[in-house]
Amino acid sequence: MLELLNLQRLHRVHGWLHRRGRLGRPRALSFCGGSGGECRQQLRHPSIVLGEALLELELETGLLRHALVELPARVADHVADQDADREPPEERREPVVRGNRPGSAQRAEGDGADQHAGECADRDSGTSDSAGLRLVVRDERLDGPVCLVPLRCHVFFIGLRSVALECSNRPVTLTVINPATEAPLAQLEQAGVEETDGAVLRAKAAFPAWRALAAADRARLLRRLATLVEEHGEELARLESRNVGKPIGGARGEVGMVAQVFHFYAGAVDKHYGETIPVAGGEAFTFREPLGVVGLIVPWNFPLNIASWKLGPALTMGNTVVLKPAELTPLSTLRLAELALEAGIPEGVLNVVVGKGSIVGTRLVEHPDVAKIAFTGSTEVGRLVMSGAAGTIKRVTLELGGKSGNVVFADADLERAAAAAPYAVFDNAGQDCCARSRILVERSAYDRFAELLIQATEALKVGDPEDDETEMGPLISAAHRATVAGFVDGEPLYRGRTPAGKGFWYPPTLVEATNDDRIAREEVFGPVAALIPFAGEAEAVRLANDTPYGLSGSIWTRDGARALRVARAIDTGVLSVNSNSSVRVTTPFGGFKQSGFGRELGMHALDGYSEVKSVFFSTEG
Ligand code: NAD
Repeated sequence: MLELLNLQRLHRVHGWLHRRGRLGRPRALSFCGGSGGECRQQLRHPSIVLGEALLELELETGLLRHALVELPARVADHVADQDADREPPEERREPVVRGNRPGSAQRAEGDGADQHAGECADRDSGTSDSAGLRLVVRDERLDGPVCLVPLRCHVFFIGLRSVALECSNRPVTLTVINPATEAPLAQLEQAGVEETDGAVLRAKAAFPAWRALAAADRARLLRRLATLVEEHGEELARLESRNVGKPIGGARGEVGMVAQVFHFYAGAVDKHYGETIPVAGGEAFTFREPLGVVGLIVPWNFPLNIASWKLGPALTMGNTVVLKPAELTPLSTLRLAELALEAGIPEGVLNVVVGKGSIVGTRLVEHPDVAKIAFTGSTEVGRLVMSGAAGTIKRVTLELGGKSGNVVFADADLERAAAAAPYAVFDNAGQDCCARSRILVERSAYDRFAELLIQATEALKVGDPEDDETEMGPLISAAHRATVAGFVDGEPLYRGRTPAGKGFWYPPTLVEATNDDRIAREEVFGPVAALIPFAGEAEAVRLANDTPYGLSGSIWTRDGARALRVARAIDTGVLSVNSNSSVRVTTPFGGFKQSGFGRELGMHALDGYSEVKSVFFSTEG
């Protein structure tokens, strides 16, 4: 029905962001219109830093002369303020921003609209959504009506350099698929700004009672949630395995960790003590106060696990939560929210909102009633989160990308190191921020180690994630597979096999590289490991640190003193010696450098979800 969007050319774009100096004039535009009711258009710009679904479009088409986006009231007021002392652009022929709330159809005065009322009403019968925008269409050829076409127009980012505008006159649904089979698993309606605001409101309303709950009662509820996760362990693991494409064995382990996390933080509720500080004239005490509503934004690679790392300490400290899972993998966190209610955690304490990062995520980041954002994801989006949070001086913790080194000295147990190395990269098909994807090997042991590593990688079982024997599944999406493939030029040292047929498969791959090669500098987030030789301890440390990231890593040697020296010298948040395992429920986890800041897990995480208050108590008089 929406042939209105069969637009030939986008004539001009004005942006609210442009007016704020955040979005310059786009350099090149192309419009892919269609009669199908959905259109998507990309425009490139070099310096976009913030997403907002606020664009004003003027379009020229065979049928249409103008198509103007009407802004939600909240935004329009803001724009109007900013525009008060500005001349309208010369080419503009119509007033553009009306600022009425979407959902209330509106016509321009004196435009002969009655004649086309049926058509407009018909067009208007689609979804209405204050998260989206309304396209005001004026057909000048007919000297005709102004119709309000209810659209959801979303501006979102593709990397830092391009922005896409997606419009639809249908409710925006999300089809969640199984990456191993490409079969749909669920269809969900995506939230917009309005739904996000609703969730924040519910979390805000639930906060006073949750914060006031006696510590022992909060602990009891969290423990009950942990128990329910255990009881539903197989169901959650299957859900996670199907949605992420991860092997069921790994998924079971992850769900087991989720239960442990809630058990741990249930036990921590009453163990995060304040201090008594002697001061003149009285005593000073410190208290740990909750922050309020916290926004948790999580990625698709370990959806439930990473959500629990944030939820455990956030809820323990008395905060309420709005959790945004990644669009690709929302199913397990939605189920967890149901289990939380079943556990007796009051409504509004844990809210899950499914939607795009550029809309739901951005709204959470900018929302004045959200006190903190705990974000796990790419360094690129982490930058956006950090800058977006500046407007409200929001607390932020960031768990970002990695390019960790697995440093193997010649005196190590090479057989053990080589047998373990594939799992340190290819686990979760390499979609792991801690992946030790740079394998640094002392030159004198390089050939032997490479031989052992190939043997170990050959033994890796790649296949159906639901099979108990499988060790590696597919990648999360076709787009991600294309990105991963783009990192491998020429013939690698080793390339494994994958199942034929449907699924986003990519084989385990070993390449030889130097630390300056792209494969060694950028996060691949797929099953590709780079083997890099080094000569001696000093060079090992130099290469391990020669990366903008600093998340994880391993050191393999039989020399204990060297292990300790190198562990202290490597700039990374978590490390393991003669092991590739460095994530524990009880120990702090987080990054150095561009891998982020703040710590999750262990008692350290509690600091990120509370403020220290100092109270002086006079003892005089
Ligand atoms: P991503 O950065 O694309 O997305 C992460 C989350 O942020 C998603 O929920 C997404 O919807 C949301 N988002 C996207 N744009 C946003 C915006 N403008 N504002 C607010 N939120 C927005 O990351 P991904 O592709 O889902 O996950 C892979 C990345 O996550 C990798 O770089 C990986 O290293 C990193 N990661 C880090 C850790 C860690 O603990 N350090 C753990 C897992 C994954």
